[in-house]
Amino acid sequence: MKEVGYKVEAGVAWLVLNNPPLNALSHALRKAVIDGLDRAVADAKVQAIVLVGNERAFSSGADIKEFSGGAFYAEPFLPALCDALEAAPKPVIAAISGACMGGGLELALGCHYRVALADARIAFPEVKLGLIPGAGGTQRLPRLVGLESALNLIVSGATVPAAMFKGSPLFDAVIDGGGANALRDAARDLAAKLRKENAPVRRVRDRAVQHPQAEAFLQFAKTGITAVSRGMAAPLRALEAVAASLEKSFDFGLGVERKIFTELMSSPESQALRHAFFAERAASKVAGLGDRTPQRKIERVAVVGAGTMGGGIAMTFANAGIPVTLLEAKQEALDRGLANIRKTYEGAVAKRKLKPEDATQRGGLIQPSLDYADVSKVDLVIEAVFEDLEVKKAVFRELDKHARRGAILATNTSTLDVDRIAAFTKRPGDVLGLHFFSPANVMRLLEVVRAKKTRPDVLATAMSLARRIGKTAVVAGVCDGFIGNRMLDPYAQQALLMLEEGASPRQVDQAIEAFGFAMGPFRMSDLAGNDISWHIRKRHYAEHPQMRHMRIADRVCELGRFGQKTGSGWYRYEPGKRDAIPDPVVEQIIAEERKALKIPPRRIPDAEIVDRLVYALVNEGARILEEGIAQRASDIDVVYLTGYGFPASRGGPMFHASQVGLGKVVRRMREFAANPHAEPQSWKPARLLARLAAAGRRFDDAVAATTPRKARAKGKSRG
Ligand code: NAD
Repeated sequence: MKEVGYKVEAGVAWLVLNNPPLNALSHALRKAVIDGLDRAVADAKVQAIVLVGNERAFSSGADIKEFSGGAFYAEPFLPALCDALEAAPKPVIAAISGACMGGGLELALGCHYRVALADARIAFPEVKLGLIPGAGGTQRLPRLVGLESALNLIVSGATVPAAMFKGSPLFDAVIDGGGANALRDAARDLAAKLRKENAPVRRVRDRAVQHPQAEAFLQFAKTGITAVSRGMAAPLRALEAVAASLEKSFDFGLGVERKIFTELMSSPESQALRHAFFAERAASKVAGLGDRTPQRKIERVAVVGAGTMGGGIAMTFANAGIPVTLLEAKQEALDRGLANIRKTYEGAVAKRKLKPEDATQRGGLIQPSLDYADVSKVDLVIEAVFEDLEVKKAVFRELDKHARRGAILATNTSTLDVDRIAAFTKRPGDVLGLHFFSPANVMRLLEVVRAKKTRPDVLATAMSLARRIGKTAVVAGVCDGFIGNRMLDPYAQQALLMLEEGASPRQVDQAIEAFGFAMGPFRMSDLAGNDISWHIRKRHYAEHPQMRHMRIADRVCELGRFGQKTGSGWYRYEPGKRDAIPDPVVEQIIAEERKALKIPPRRIPDAEIVDRLVYALVNEGARILEEGIAQRASDIDVVYLTGYGFPASRGGPMFHASQVGLGKVVRRMREFAANPHAEPQSWKPARLLARLAAAGRRFDDAVAATTPRKARAKGKSRG
């Protein structure tokens, strides 16, 4: 492959970036651009140079795979390439279509002139990876669009159409309508005009940043950014870099930008965010499936059950433009479900998040039904009825009777055995779990549960469907709680044990929220409804005796304190408000239980709270990995980052533990096991964890230890 095409036409050298699909600025591409530039500069016939990409991208920016090796810094390093373009003695024009992002935008800013299609997508997404633009972006952009617009783009990481900057010095022409040909014509016309006018090269570095009250503006911006950046370093560091564009000289500003970029590059926060980025991409790849695995066509879907989950799932499909049949057992339940859907869409319209006509269109895609015969027209059915195996059995028997051959049958169960559910049909190969999270139309995570007999094409179809409906899919094997909820059990257990030992719900919540979690375990439980886990526990008590630490939780529920929806739970709530207020009633229950257990309360350090909660997740995560329930450690991180509010700046539980050092994690677990009030089994390190710790390795070094088949035999399904 030639990374840059080169041809000269009528005095114009065309450098065509050719690193599909998105012209990521790999070392080879950078080298080819500079070679092309040198060649054009040396060619006496060339009077102007045009840099152009393909329809999908001018360039999407750095090839971040190169971040971990030396190639990212290999010459020509991107900043040097941008400087070389700018220093060229002949006019250089960037012709921009598709994505023009990050390093790609910096490349364009290094050029002397820019023309763009109106719908080209412009962004500096670096902050999302804990970085700032590092090849002059923070210095050149404010010189073209002003301090405020530049800062907005750099700090938000948002993608905007080129049309937004029409009329600003960022673009010499913004072309409405027309594709690649119109863009090339515009670049050609501009080159001809420059030649005719004998126009000199025009360097962004020679412009000054204009702002009447820069000092005051920057102060104001700092307050705003601090408020929204939630402890992340990159947005404020971006402000610092942009502020430097007002200082002594362009080169001074570049120096500031370089220093900040280098510091951020090695920061734990950026490493974690980059891990999360790769982890999400990796999650979509499934062992045993490839590009050649056939897929089934999904054009129409049915959802059975119009409750909390069914309604959300139906909206998810309607939002993606896929027609849905919503099937219920009773008219009354159907009406209630439809009313909830209407309310959600009306709410979005009222908040101006959705246009009224779009709400109508989406609502129109949801077809209510009380008749299983309607299922015969669909390609996929998702069951979201009560969490009761007998009810599910009845539903799957009906689905087996009515669904057409080749239709995929999915269950949204959280705790039941998907293999048993599949066995209710005569086509278990077409059955799998699609475990959505509440609210299903909002939460990004989807656990795709691969059952014993799920066929590869069914799994492959589910994975690509997830992408179509905007979900991040992670494959899980069959076990109790799959990946996310299974890990939540030992986490919740530690939270409750710490109450017995001396902590309050608020102290536990505040400690883990300071670590970065969106919500601590007690606030979270009050939001989800304490009755949900209580019902599951009670079902368990039939087989296992009540565990000691459950007593406090059960007593809270016995008082009807189910959380926000009942006005009280672990906290109390003022009518219409969501502030969690500590409640003496709960403190009393905790004090009584401590007394009954003869546990003298102690002050538990916040660091212990955090480590016990997080390492409980990690140890169960390690078991999930060794059993092959999860394919890779990073999949577990994706589950916790996208579904459970784990702080992105820490990269997920497994990445976090590897960063801390698995040896250190195991030593800390031993310390916890020595606590006289510990449940001794909880801190027994998973075999995989112990093995990796002893070898001084990380979780990313581990591949799922067993095949999914073996894993299921070990899984402790409770179905
Ligand atoms: P829900 O009680 O809100 O809704 C269940 C709905 O199913 C009700 O509207 C009911 O009328 C309907 N239904 C019952 N039997 C039916 C039948 N035979 N045919 C058609 N409809 C029938 O429950 P939910 O919270 O939406 O949970 C549904 C499923 O999703 C459960 O399996 C649950 O474990 C799972 N789930 C729930 C959550 C959550 O946070 N609520 C999250 C993930 C998964």
